[in-house]
Amino acid sequence: MGDPLPAILVLNAGSSSVKFSVFDVAGDGAPAPAFGGQIEGIGLAPKLALGDGGASAEDAESFAAAVGSDGDHAAAIDWLLGWLDGRLAARDGDGPARRLDAVGHRVVHGGPDFAAPMLVDAALLERLEALVPLAPLHQPHNLAGIEAVARRAPALPQVACFDTAFHRGHSELAERFAIPDWLYREGVRRYGFHGLSYDSIAGQLPQRAPEIARGRVIVAHLGNGASLCALDDGRSLDSTMSFTALDGLPMGTRCGAIDPGVGLYLMAEKGYDRAALEDFYYRQCGLKGLSGISSDLRDLEASERPGAKLAIDYFVQRICREIGALTAVLGGLDGLVFTAGIGENATEIRAAVCAGCAWLGVALDAAANRAGGPRITLPGAAVSAWVIATDEERTIALRSLETLGEARR
Ligand code: ADP
Repeated sequence: MGDPLPAILVLNAGSSSVKFSVFDVAGDGAPAPAFGGQIEGIGLAPKLALGDGGASAEDAESFAAAVGSDGDHAAAIDWLLGWLDGRLAARDGDGPARRLDAVGHRVVHGGPDFAAPMLVDAALLERLEALVPLAPLHQPHNLAGIEAVARRAPALPQVACFDTAFHRGHSELAERFAIPDWLYREGVRRYGFHGLSYDSIAGQLPQRAPEIARGRVIVAHLGNGASLCALDDGRSLDSTMSFTALDGLPMGTRCGAIDPGVGLYLMAEKGYDRAALEDFYYRQCGLKGLSGISSDLRDLEASERPGAKLAIDYFVQRICREIGALTAVLGGLDGLVFTAGIGENATEIRAAVCAGCAWLGVALDAAANRAGGPRITLPGAAVSAWVIATDEERTIALRSLETLGEARR
């Protein structure tokens, strides 16, 4: 039977979901995916999906009894940790059971100080709590996950991996808004997000797209949240997201870059307060607001209504515009990478963005694009375009193990 296999749990708590992945930790320290799943619909109608499919009747029943229809993130994660105790103790076929050595968490905001993942302790938690106003839809749930694990297994090491950390080397010019210095020093600055995804892509480039790995690359992370990152030799120089995850591209329900005067108008003329503005910017805008139909690109692609076309055209136009801006930051462009739900799956969006970037030297290979890449431009194109799947969970596992290794040295 042997000793239990060392494993690491990765928790990614989103605004209404908790994704989890268990990785085996092989002798060389590389994480290998073992199993995972997710709980969706938290706050509405929590639903469990384990592995590729749903859940066994027994698991679904125990989940419904513990979490019910109104369970919050903490209740869902508590149930998950209890379920994991049993699942990890079970042997996989003839293989040994598993034992968790650590938990790695996605934490959206690390503020100005953290350029690398951090081992969690009480002092760190307090500092991360203070950043909740900068990421109100994500940060509280990320921290709820850390607290739920600490309650159950106080001795288990936990690592916080920040979506902002990958961007921490930005120049002062890229980091500043044109606001007074005292506010910058207080932390009001352009942080950038989706850093775990960009870290994952930067790590994959040398194998998947070696000819551009050392060059000037724009990565388009297009999912419910969307941003672009300008990479130079694998390092982030700039990104479209900034102080909060609202800036830059329009998203599923978030507005993207907008004249701050719109907020002033809503306050003065419509009586909006902070809560109403937050709901407006985070939940009522983007593809949903523009189309009046849905935040989900698949719904828009399937719709004949004019709002659907307007929203898609606007999304593509803003992506192309920001690619132009980041190309100026990079001083030219060698490659363009599409990733995340839309980037990896939406053939028509990729084709439209590439057409909008033809002036840069992007020449689409339509058949390769339909086939999903990895390279979707014609041989000899001055700027090559690629489809590469992001793997934020694996990046969290990898970075957490590195952080633990350093702490033990
Ligand atoms: P999140 O930011 O929540 O992780 P994802 O990266 O899963 O989001 O992306 C979700 C988006 O991807 C949705 O707008 C969805 O419509 C889109 N998407 C997923 N699959 C496809 C597909 N096959 N074709 C077009 N769009 C897709």
